[in-house]
Amino acid sequence: MASKKKGPRQLVGLQCSECKAFGYVTTYNRNNDIAKRQAGEKESFPLKKYCKKCRTHTVHKAMKKLK
Ligand SMILES: [Zn+2]
Repeated sequence: MASKKKGPRQLVGLQCSECKAFGYVTTYNRNNDIAKRQAGEKESFPLKKYCKKCRTHTVHKAMKKLK
């Protein structure tokens, strides 16, 4: 897992759309998303996550990829 290979996996911060707090950092496979879109399936983002600040589930968006 500790590979430095560049791949389709993007490290992104998940931002709460309500309070704009970054509650999560996650990776996702961009290629999967493209495939999902083409198949007419739901994409990975935005998605509902628990926000500690709002103390409820809110819609989180994937913001800029992190390094
Ligand atoms: Zn929030």
